[in-house]
Amino acid sequence: MRERDRSTLGRAITLIESNAAKDQALAQALLVQVLPLTGKAQRIGITGVPGVGKSTFIESFGSFLTERGHRVAVLAIDPTSGVTRGSILGDKTRMNKLSRDDNAFIRPSPSGGSLGGVARKTRESMLLCEAAGYDVILVETVGVGQSETVVAEMVDLFLVLMLPGAGDELQGIKRGILELADILAVNKADANPAAARLAKRDYLSALKLMHGATGDARRGGVPVLLMSGLSGAGIDALWQHIEEHFAAANGSGQLDRKRLEQLRRWMWSMVEERVLQALRSHPEVERIAPKLEAEVLGGKLTPTLGAQALLQAFGLEDGSMTEPRGDGH
Ligand code: GDP
Repeated sequence: MRERDRSTLGRAITLIESNAAKDQALAQALLVQVLPLTGKAQRIGITGVPGVGKSTFIESFGSFLTERGHRVAVLAIDPTSGVTRGSILGDKTRMNKLSRDDNAFIRPSPSGGSLGGVARKTRESMLLCEAAGYDVILVETVGVGQSETVVAEMVDLFLVLMLPGAGDELQGIKRGILELADILAVNKADANPAAARLAKRDYLSALKLMHGATGDARRGGVPVLLMSGLSGAGIDALWQHIEEHFAAANGSGQLDRKRLEQLRRWMWSMVEERVLQALRSHPEVERIAPKLEAEVLGGKLTPTLGAQALLQAFGLEDGSMTEPRGDGH
């Protein structure tokens, strides 16, 4: 991998993605070895509804970057992959030019499993790509379930692509996605420049309202750009904003803090997911849960007493809801 051999990188990612216990042990041993080589890339998340133009944009943006001497890895988190027959992010052969580029590496989303499991695999694959010398990592996702939150938790900068015609869209848009955005780009501005300008104005005021209300002045300044992934217009301005973002985040120490916090949360979220899974599949919990649920829903039992009974069935000696001490995270 240090020699930047792509097929070795591909095989290492396959190891990460394997669910076999012995592969996982090997994968973790490999990760420990490459950790000192990681952390030097710019990690950029990209989201937007299907059809917003993510693949087209990544094709243009990726080529823009490799032409400037960067090595670009494209990863994805698609929670629908392997669940339905196709997947929402679909088939990356659409990125024709980029997939033939020696300085680009494209890997589709790991398929199947829980969102947490898919996220772990992508996160660890990202580390492998960094070790193999890729200095810009693009992690693509669609707004399904919590997938954007999961991507935002593993990247330094989150780019949200939007369509013009914001009037209708602002109504239905998930507020959460705007909250996560570090940069917002109104894509397909070539097709309808007037609508795109209107959309930009609407998003700017929505962002200002949202972050103004929370008093987060920095995020109140989230840039909204006009772009065309198809023609490439606006991509150089976007890159300039991204570089400014990284320069500021590096200078203030904010990037390091963000990554450390992500690491901490990542570890705990795996623990939480596993513990919850163990609890839900515990035979005694499974046995009494339907009855307890019915009693709570029927107004015969309080949710607190129901929770206590479930925790005791799981083996917590003291299922009571008094909090013994402040939790560590
Ligand atoms: P994805 O589902 O988000 O990956 O979207 P795609 O990249 O597959 O694009 C969906 C459709 O929109 C395709 O027909 C693209 O050719 C078209 N498209 C993508 N970007 C642009 C753009 O910047 N301008 C215009 N006019 N069309 C675009």
